[in-house]
Amino acid sequence: MLKKPDKNLANPDYWAEETRLVRGGLDRSQHGETSEAIYLNSGFVYPDAETAEARFAGEEEGYVYARYGNPTVSMFEERLRLLEGAEACYGVASGMAAVWGALACQLEAGDHIVSSRALFGSCYQIITSILPKFGITYTLVDGYDTDQWRDAVSDKTKLFFLETPSNPTLEVLDLAAVSEIGRAKGITVVVDNIFATPVLQKPLQYGADVIVYSGTKHIDGQGRTLGGAVMSTTEFKEKKLKPFLRHTGPSLSPFNAWTLLKGLETLKLRVMAQCKAAHKIAEMLEGEASVSRVIYPFLKSHPQHALCRKQMVAGGTMVTFELVGGKKAAFELLRNLQIIDISNNLGDAKSLITHPASTTHRNIGEEARDAMGITEGMVRLSVGLEDVGDLAADLQQSLAG
Ligand SMILES: *Cc1c(COP(=O)(O)O)cnc(C)c1O
Repeated sequence: MLKKPDKNLANPDYWAEETRLVRGGLDRSQHGETSEAIYLNSGFVYPDAETAEARFAGEEEGYVYARYGNPTVSMFEERLRLLEGAEACYGVASGMAAVWGALACQLEAGDHIVSSRALFGSCYQIITSILPKFGITYTLVDGYDTDQWRDAVSDKTKLFFLETPSNPTLEVLDLAAVSEIGRAKGITVVVDNIFATPVLQKPLQYGADVIVYSGTKHIDGQGRTLGGAVMSTTEFKEKKLKPFLRHTGPSLSPFNAWTLLKGLETLKLRVMAQCKAAHKIAEMLEGEASVSRVIYPFLKSHPQHALCRKQMVAGGTMVTFELVGGKKAAFELLRNLQIIDISNNLGDAKSLITHPASTTHRNIGEEARDAMGITEGMVRLSVGLEDVGDLAADLQQSLAG
């Protein structure tokens, strides 16, 4: 049904997601450009010394230096903020700058983190080898087992870190249950929501505190740029994030912010189409004799299937599967593909496939891979926007060898 015109339509808070994605944060210059402008500048000038003084004192709104903020970056932050329904958003240079910023801005020596074990490779490195150098300890848990989170908490625990669905095993964690455990103990719950995207899952609604994104993945979704963002309350942004990120310098380039801003316009259309295709591919793979296991959140065979349906709008753009013939068969499959590219990137319009054990999860070692359930015969497919029939045929002909 069409909504009746409403006086509130001047306020983006009343807009539907689709409208937010196309128009949210739009800040036109005096020239009235249709598409958002790219402000490729590092500095800003002031009409007089009094204005400069007022801006530095924080008494007047306005830009002072691109490391602190830029109009194109602001447009990107506002559009993503509106999509997430968060109070505040801070754009940064990459997903890892977002993860590092969100963790390092609030931790100090002596603090303890509890994190799910199934993590993106670089997140795993930050928690298990970089933060410990600064006196921050950690406990890894099987994130889907909610009791393990409760048991791992000590009086030093300041932060929970989790990723759902996880990379590459697509484990799904109960955001509401884990957030509740954290909340009750005053622990900040940080969620890496990159695999789900803000279209499929909004962790703030389940009680999480801080959400991190890599713009590199679905938000750009066309393989062009790196970028990232941290979503939080205004208080967290002003008191923790801003002082840390402004002075340490992981600024998002205005050009990259513009690319991500344009990516957001089509994010929902792309992600929903990719999810639909991924679901079909997952069903097709379940019927293949050379495939021993298919992991996809919206398949009934997924261990947390009911939770997936409750927590996510659709099953996601990623399908992970295991080949009967192990690493040899996985490499053979990748070699035979005619359309799908071998690449460790994901969320792209182009379908991409990778063998995690030898690439993204190579550095963590065999023991950690075993603990995460990453096997030698496992491949991870990021389903793109090509015709799903072509993709299914490409996989089937490659599996047949
Ligand atoms: C890609 C990714 C990151 C890191 O993002 P970059 O933009 O590559 O720095 C972190 N977490 C997950 C789950 C990712 O997929």
